[in-house]
Amino acid sequence: MSAATLLRDVFGFDAFRPGQQEIVAAVTAGRNTLAIMPTGGGKSLCFQLPALVRDGVTVVISPLIALMRDQVRGLREAGVEAGALTSGNTPEETDAVWEALEAGRLKLLYMAPERLASGGVPQMLKRAGVTLIAVDEAHCVSQWGHDFRPDYLRIGDLRRELGVPLAAFTATADAETRDEIIEKLFGGAEPEVFLHGFDRPNIHLSFAVKDSPRQQILRFAEARRGQSGIVYCGTRAKTEVLAQALRETGHNSAHYHGGMEADDRRITEARFQQEDGLIVVATVAFGMGIDKPDIRWVAHADLPKSIEAYYQEIGRSGRDGAPAEAFTLFGPDDIRFRRQQIDEGLAPPERRMADHGRLNALLGLAEALDCRRHELLQYFGEEVAQCGNCDLCDKPAEVFDGTEPVRMALSAALRTGERFGSGHLIDILLGGETDKVRQNGHDSLPTFGVGKAYDRRQWQAIFRQMMGHDLIRPDPEMHGGLRMTDRARPILRGEETIQLRADTIRAAKGAGPKIKMLVSDEDAPLLSALKAKRRALAEAAGVPAYIIFNDKTLIEMAETRPATLDQMARVGGVGAKKLEHYGMAFLEVIAGEAEALHPRRRKLAGKEAGSVYDQLLEAQNSLVRGEDGTGKPMSCTASVLARLAEAHPTDLGGIERIIGARHTERFGTAFLEILQGG
Ligand code: ADP
Repeated sequence: MSAATLLRDVFGFDAFRPGQQEIVAAVTAGRNTLAIMPTGGGKSLCFQLPALVRDGVTVVISPLIALMRDQVRGLREAGVEAGALTSGNTPEETDAVWEALEAGRLKLLYMAPERLASGGVPQMLKRAGVTLIAVDEAHCVSQWGHDFRPDYLRIGDLRRELGVPLAAFTATADAETRDEIIEKLFGGAEPEVFLHGFDRPNIHLSFAVKDSPRQQILRFAEARRGQSGIVYCGTRAKTEVLAQALRETGHNSAHYHGGMEADDRRITEARFQQEDGLIVVATVAFGMGIDKPDIRWVAHADLPKSIEAYYQEIGRSGRDGAPAEAFTLFGPDDIRFRRQQIDEGLAPPERRMADHGRLNALLGLAEALDCRRHELLQYFGEEVAQCGNCDLCDKPAEVFDGTEPVRMALSAALRTGERFGSGHLIDILLGGETDKVRQNGHDSLPTFGVGKAYDRRQWQAIFRQMMGHDLIRPDPEMHGGLRMTDRARPILRGEETIQLRADTIRAAKGAGPKIKMLVSDEDAPLLSALKAKRRALAEAAGVPAYIIFNDKTLIEMAETRPATLDQMARVGGVGAKKLEHYGMAFLEVIAGEAEALHPRRRKLAGKEAGSVYDQLLEAQNSLVRGEDGTGKPMSCTASVLARLAEAHPTDLGGIERIIGARHTERFGTAFLEILQGG
C-alpha cells in the first residue's frame, strides 16, 4: 500500500503535515535520519507509517511509558499489530508481547530504554527480525540536557549489533544537542537531518467570505493574467464549469479530476508543466507529483478539508521562492459540507470528533483575528512574529468583545444538555417559540430570548467563530449536538474574555439568498448519521445503499424521528420486511443517545422501572456538568441507572450504595426526588 493510502486508511488523515512527507520517505527508504520537529508536529507518524511499509519489526525506544501505551492502544485500534515492553506491564502482557514477536506478528515494538540493560535483549531483537530502530525524544541521550537518560547510551550499541537503520526524533533543536545525538546514536556517521521551519514566507495568505464565488475567483484570476495557478474545487462538476468560465474570459485553462481518463489527466499534467500561464481547475486529485517551481498562485473555490490539507495545497505554489499567493473562499455551505463528510464517514466517534476539531482549526484560520501565518504555524507548533505578508497584516480585522454573546450561546448549549445543534440553540437565544422549543420546555430556560441583539445570520456567524476558536465541537455521538470543549470553560466562568470579528458578522447580515437543502440545519447531522448506518449495512451485505432505504426514506426518518417500530413503519418506503431487517438499527441511530435504547433499558420496557429509568436519565442529562454547567462531565452507565431504577432506594444512603459517593454528590438529590416521587 502507498504511503498516501496508509495515511488515509490506517491513520485517518487526509494530508501530511509540514515536513512529514519527506521524513517518511527517508525513513521508509532505510536511510539514517534525525528529524527535529516541534512538539505536537506529528513525529510519531514519521516512524509508524514507515514501520507499516517496511518488512520486519520496528523497535521504538521511548522514555514515556504512558505515551507508549497510548500509542500502542491507538495503533491496535487502527488494526496495527503493536506491543510494548515497559515496567508497567503485567507478566502476562510481557509474555504476550514476546510471543507475538516470536510468531512474527508484530510490526511495532515499543520499549523503554531500561529494557536494553537486561542481557540478551539485542539477540532476541535480532532473532525477531528487527529492521528499523526509531528513537523518540532522542535528546535524552545528551548528557548535558536536563532529560538525560543513561540507558539511551545503549542505543548506539544496539544499532551496531543489529546493523539496521536508525531514525531519531526530537523537538530540541540546538546545535550542541544535535551533535551529541549524532555522535552517540549514529556513531558520528552523519544521518540525513530534517530541520526546517515550516514557514513559506513568500506565499501571501488571504481568505474571503463567499458572496459571489465564481466572480470572486474570476476577479482574482483576472488580476493575475498570464500566471500559472491552480484553483481547487470541492466537486468534479465544478472544476469543469469554472475552467469553462475562465476560458470564456480569455484565460488559458483546463480542468482536472479523478474521474477523467488517465490519458486526459496526463495530458493536462504535461501541459501544466510546460505551458506558461495555464490555470488548472482541479479537485485535490491534482497535486501529488506536480513538481512545477513557478506556480504563482493557488486559489480555493471551496474550503479545504482540514488545516493540513490547506497547508499542503497552498505549499504547491512558489517553490522557487519568488512571491506567490494563496486565496481561499469559505462560506457556511462549505462548513456544512465538510462536517457532513466527517459525519458520513465510518470512522469511530473519537476520530470523527478529532476531525471536527481539525476542521475547527481551519475555521479559526479563516476567521483569524490577526496575522494568519502566526495562526497557521502556531497550529504546527512553530512561533513566528507578525508576518507582514497576509491580508490581515495588510489590513487588520475589525474585532469586538464577544464575551457576552459567546457566554449566552455556551449557556444555551449547556442548559440543554449539549444535545442540540446551532439551529435550535439560536431559536432559544432569539426566543423563537418553535414546536421543538416548546416540546422540550426550552421556553422556560433563563437563556430563552436573551440574544435578540443579533439576528439569526449573525448568530450563525457567532457560532461559526466559536467553532473556529474550538470552544464547541459537534459531537458525532449526539448527531451534531454541540459539545463544549475545555477551552470554553474560562470564558464561561468569567475568567477570560474573547474577541470576535465584527466584519464577518456584519457581512452575514441578510447576505445572499438561502440555499436549498435536503433537510433543515437541525436535521442534517441526523441524516448524515442515518446515511452512515445505511452505508455500513450495505457494505456488510454487499448491496448498493439504496437497496436498504432510499434517500427519500432517510430524509423522512430524519424529519419525523420515529421513536418506536410502529412509528417507523409509517415512514414511506419502510415495508414489513425492511422494518424487520433494519428497523431496530435505524431506530437506535435516531434515539441518538444509545443509552436511551440501551439493552438494559429495553429489558425494563413495560415495567414501572422503565419510566423511572427515563426520568433518571433525563435528570442526569441536565446535570452532566453539574448545577452551574461548568463541572467536569460525569454520568452513570446505563446498567447502573437500570439497577437504581429497579432497586428503587428512597434515601441517599441507598442511592450511594448503587452509584457511589462521587456520583451521589452530583446526582443524589435529583435522583432522590424522582425515586421518592415514584
Ligand atoms: P509529537 O510526537 O510530534 O508531539 P504526535 O505525533 O503526538 O506529535 O502528533 C500530534 C497530533 O497531531 C496527534 O494528535 C496526531 O494525531 C496529529 N497528527 C499527526 N499527523 C497528522 C496529519 N498528517 N494530519 C492530521 N493530524 C495529524
